[in-house]
Amino acid sequence: MKIFNTLTRRKEEFVPLEPGKVKMYVCGPTVYNFIHIGNARPMIVFDTVRRYFAYKGYEVNYVSNFTDVDDKIIKKAIEEGVDSEVISRRYIEECKKDMAGMNVKPATTHPQATQEIEGMLDMIRTLIEKGYAYAAQDGTVYFRTSSFKDYGKLSHKNLDELQSGFREIKVTGEEGKEDASDFVLWKPKKEGEPYWESPWCQGRPGWHIECSVMAKKYLGDRIDIHAGGEDLIFPHHENEIAQSEAANEKPFAVYWMHNAFLNIDNRKMSKSLGNFFTVREISERYDLQVLRFFMLSAHYRSPLNFSAELMEASKNGLERILTGVERLGEAEKTAREQKSFEMENMLSQKEQACMSQAKELAAKYEAAMDDDFNTADAIAAVFELVKLSNSTVSGDSSLAYIEFMKDLMERLCDVMGIITQRNKEVLDEEIEAMIEARQQARKAKNFALADEIRSKLLDMGIILEDTREGVKWKRA
Ligand code: AMP
Ligand code: ZN
Repeated sequence: MKIFNTLTRRKEEFVPLEPGKVKMYVCGPTVYNFIHIGNARPMIVFDTVRRYFAYKGYEVNYVSNFTDVDDKIIKKAIEEGVDSEVISRRYIEECKKDMAGMNVKPATTHPQATQEIEGMLDMIRTLIEKGYAYAAQDGTVYFRTSSFKDYGKLSHKNLDELQSGFREIKVTGEEGKEDASDFVLWKPKKEGEPYWESPWCQGRPGWHIECSVMAKKYLGDRIDIHAGGEDLIFPHHENEIAQSEAANEKPFAVYWMHNAFLNIDNRKMSKSLGNFFTVREISERYDLQVLRFFMLSAHYRSPLNFSAELMEASKNGLERILTGVERLGEAEKTAREQKSFEMENMLSQKEQACMSQAKELAAKYEAAMDDDFNTADAIAAVFELVKLSNSTVSGDSSLAYIEFMKDLMERLCDVMGIITQRNKEVLDEEIEAMIEARQQARKAKNFALADEIRSKLLDMGIILEDTREGVKWKRA
């Protein structure tokens, strides 16, 4: 498998740190609003990467954070007159609903910044002790970029240029910096903001430190893959490398993967430009499977322009695949009803030849995915498979042939996160049983357990509504 590594700017053979295992960290959203479909691109892309590793037999430990302490969250909380925790909790729940709708698997761990302050204080302390960080008079702690000799290695920037570029920029409140390119690890609280005690001042962490700390805690000092959108290369990921490698004295991530932007009218979709659609808005017009399929129709390192035409094309393409799988399901049912056991296992010569063709298409699919996750070419191979299946499966087909084609198609679709009938089968009884357990927990006033069950259901794509008539549920 080859992965394009931003660090070396080359496609490199993937060699895991530990055989058979992949440790992966993906920077998650800041939770102050509904996520937009630009934020959805890394979620879908790296969920597909994760699924492909699992398909290849790797055990994947996938960590993705929620940034739940940030200026934008605080601003929104002040606007609504509530605690910032109310805002972040609300939008984490909403984000999880969107993820379930897009069939993005819950991460192995979804840490939250506010729950990891101790670890951040530890790492900052270590950085100060080793001379990589310093506290200014007002209690702000800065990372001393000039002390980390590899600073700039990811973004391929040169520290001298950076320093002269930053020199003109004076950020209010950051006058205590030794150098303009130094960045904040810890900052003093402002009136009305959430804060934590620390040796330097009552305050809160800078953004970059959370990812270094969570990656270390949940994956270890060294990880295989670190990923996010390309806007994170500088300064966020550059700063993460500086913090982690300075503190741990080990190389941090082996492979750095970055998705290109989702654009609209050829400009980056972003909250600040106001040119965005939320995932929720799109879900009112399309099944979110269409959005997922649209995202995967381009290579993740190519910019992708959002348009109604492309969404329509994706809708039709997806429909073609799902209809193909559905036809196989019907053929399978009929064959089971009509055929004797001997006939089931009798592959005709033509079927044997078609199976070889199908295997070649699967190999083509894998070759595309092995080449830096080229989902566009992989999907093209799925279309060819659908064509082969549509033109060769008939009332005369053997059950063995039908089953082979159906299983192959479902496995390849599953890597893309395309839900075919088989994957839809989260049993109703299982859901009902969990809802009942939640009711029991509530009766026993064990609200923590009740919340945990609700959140587990949400991870499974099940949304609960407490109504006057009792609990109702629906699939996201
Ligand atoms: P944020 O909440 O802005 O930190 O973004 C969360 C993730 O979404 C990061 O990995 C960003 O790089 C990514 N992202 C934000 N906007 C876009 C976009 N228009 N296209 C692709 N990725 C984006
Ligand atoms: Zn991060």
